[in-house]
Amino acid sequence: MNANEQLPVTMDALVWTAPRRMEMQRVPVPRPGAGEILLEVGAVGICGSELSGYLGQNSLRVPPLVMGHEVSGRIVQMGDDLPAGAHSLALGQRVAVNPIIGCGDCPQCEASMPNLCQRRRIVGAHCAGGFAQYVAVPAAQCSPLSTNLRDEAGALAEPLACSARAVHHARWQQDSALLILGAGTIGLFCLAVARAEGNGAIVISDMLDARLDVARAWGATYAVNGRAADAKEQLRAAMPGGAACVIDAVGSDATRALALQLVRPGGRVVYIGLHDESSPLAANYLVRQEIAVQGSFAYTPADFAHALDLLERGVITPGPTWTEERPLAGGAAAFAGLLDGTIATPKIILRP
Ligand SMILES: [Zn+2]
Ligand SMILES: [Zn+2]
Repeated sequence: MNANEQLPVTMDALVWTAPRRMEMQRVPVPRPGAGEILLEVGAVGICGSELSGYLGQNSLRVPPLVMGHEVSGRIVQMGDDLPAGAHSLALGQRVAVNPIIGCGDCPQCEASMPNLCQRRRIVGAHCAGGFAQYVAVPAAQCSPLSTNLRDEAGALAEPLACSARAVHHARWQQDSALLILGAGTIGLFCLAVARAEGNGAIVISDMLDARLDVARAWGATYAVNGRAADAKEQLRAAMPGGAACVIDAVGSDATRALALQLVRPGGRVVYIGLHDESSPLAANYLVRQEIAVQGSFAYTPADFAHALDLLERGVITPGPTWTEERPLAGGAAAFAGLLDGTIATPKIILRP
């Protein structure tokens, strides 16, 4: 490995060309700009937000676009003018990408919350992402992966960071119950992050039994199928006195309402799911019970570092019960399958 590594001129990329249309194309290999490095993509996850993008329901994403923001890969080229903090990066090194790029000089960025920067850019939404053999990203957004972490694990840092932030916002105390609604990737990761903190009661609910099985294996105290006629009663019975905090990792009208019904007076509800654009709110009930409602969006650099630490500690490892690896060329079919419900695996990881 040296600076003269021969790179091809063109590469395979999975390009979203129109709503519900994605195709493999040969496109030029990007050149790293100032402050950027070029990665050979090792693994890239498919995110729920990209499913709505794929349908054309997301104003952030405009076709033609190479999506993919859950990326890990190997550095194959360094651009000019790398930032001072990038001196730890070297050719050949494997890294995970934090895809949220803040403007750097607004109050939110100065408070280390680029996730709330009004001029933030996201790799794979505002610029080409990781559904390709190569991707150019700012060096400052890259964190080295230790040699014992596989590329697939590195690609989980981004969604895990989302969950780390939600759990942080929940302010869970071990002597009380945490309720998680939804056992997709984000809900399961919230379970794993919280379980890594301690042995308190964590109750989780989902519509799919296969996901509840994963949740039990990951240490859920009680897992309830939301389709059961008595689901709400089961949840109440599992948490006498109510949940001290609820994380809604679905974001539907039903789960947003359920979160308020199951949290105890004075408790906290964290909304992270984005299923419905707006939902009715039992505002007077919320007032009288002094329920705190907190939104949780993406992650800060500190949350990303927390996620990487959890991965390095092996708290989460990709496995056949909940991840599925596919070649990049299988990406279009994966998007279609996730949307029509024929793929139930919580996380699909593509390997270019
Ligand atoms: Zn994501
Ligand atoms: Zn900013």
